[in-house]
Amino acid sequence: MRATTLLNRLLDLPGLDVSGVSLDGRRMLVEVRLRARRLACPLCPFRTWARYDIRPVPSSWQHLDFGTATVVVFAYLRRVDCPEHGVLVEAVPFARYRSGFTRDFEDVTAFPATKTDKSTIARFLRIDWDTVGRICARVVATDLDADRLDGLVNIGVDEISWRKHHKYLTLLTDHTRRKVVWGQAGKDTATLDAFFNEPGPDRAAAIEAVSMDMGPAYAKSVRAEGHAPQAVICVDPFHAVKLVAEALDVERRKAWNELRNGGNPAAAKKFKGARWALLKNPGNLTDEQAATLRKLKRRGGDVWRAYTLKEAFRAIFAGDLDTDTVAELIDRWISRASRSRLPAFVKTAKTIRKHRDGILAAIRLGINNARAEGLNSVVRLIIRRARGFHSADAALALVLLTCGPITLRLPHEQPNTRPG
Ligand SMILES: [Zn+2]
Repeated sequence: MRATTLLNRLLDLPGLDVSGVSLDGRRMLVEVRLRARRLACPLCPFRTWARYDIRPVPSSWQHLDFGTATVVVFAYLRRVDCPEHGVLVEAVPFARYRSGFTRDFEDVTAFPATKTDKSTIARFLRIDWDTVGRICARVVATDLDADRLDGLVNIGVDEISWRKHHKYLTLLTDHTRRKVVWGQAGKDTATLDAFFNEPGPDRAAAIEAVSMDMGPAYAKSVRAEGHAPQAVICVDPFHAVKLVAEALDVERRKAWNELRNGGNPAAAKKFKGARWALLKNPGNLTDEQAATLRKLKRRGGDVWRAYTLKEAFRAIFAGDLDTDTVAELIDRWISRASRSRLPAFVKTAKTIRKHRDGILAAIRLGINNARAEGLNSVVRLIIRRARGFHSADAALALVLLTCGPITLRLPHEQPNTRPG
């Protein structure tokens, strides 16, 4: 077998023939020719026999390493004059449009990006983290399931901060499939409007329930005409419990400040460490945190009362109670919190009262913590990794790669006679 034929088989890239190979230090330079005579537009199915011209400089793509050598594939590509998209460099079957990497290299990059930390990936693949982000965005753009937005019935909308200085993503979850199916940078009404404005089958009309936080932005978009005004708006109990936990934290900080300003810095310092003891579920406390909690109980006062209110509220949703029982417990809690003389809780009780029906709708439809929590915790983990990216697109792509409807296949998992 000739060396170029052997190399052709080993590189296993679809649609090309190796015409030459040379070594440049640790770089293996492989010259290839496209097999297809017809030119393809990279943006649409347009095909033609007529070439516009040939690019005077070669195009190149980094492929998977060969031994310790970096493999660079290069070819002189033609340009195509698409009636819709104008003059563009022709599409190649082995790489995504405008990428400097082969599809195989990108698939190999996307896989560990969903599984491990960024310094491991950057060192292992020898590319910087923002390049990983751009690769993720390209993989998501071509490989997400095309029908992911069809047949949506119960959905959830959530904002998540992906970078400091108020950079947010809005994520849309299909509660039935437990996948994040759509996302966009931002967190206001217009952000969610973009979902309803996406072309496609009339999917908005089939939506029966939308769960969300207690802010007005997403509800406004769902209620708009032509969106999903028929849908029941549910308030995920997760958000309600979070709000109550925040009220507890306000009381804790107030007590801490009083101690500090009252000339007792040692007690204040100890108290600051009580934060997690108060906010964590009692079942998850370390021995030390449990001891701190016992001390707080003996001390009593506002912080302890605030803690018992928070725990009482959390307990409403921790069990598997029916809607009527939950309604009764919420009402009782609202009246208890309103009379607590703890300003943060009086205020929170008002908010909970306003969203009572939404919370009960979530219970009735089974959109509760336990169901969303698994997915939420994966999203939070991925978002921490995505903070290293500089673009919202890359952060969103990493979330969709990990939690979206997509099947990542590594090159060796593809059929071994590839078309092209
Ligand atoms: Zn085109």
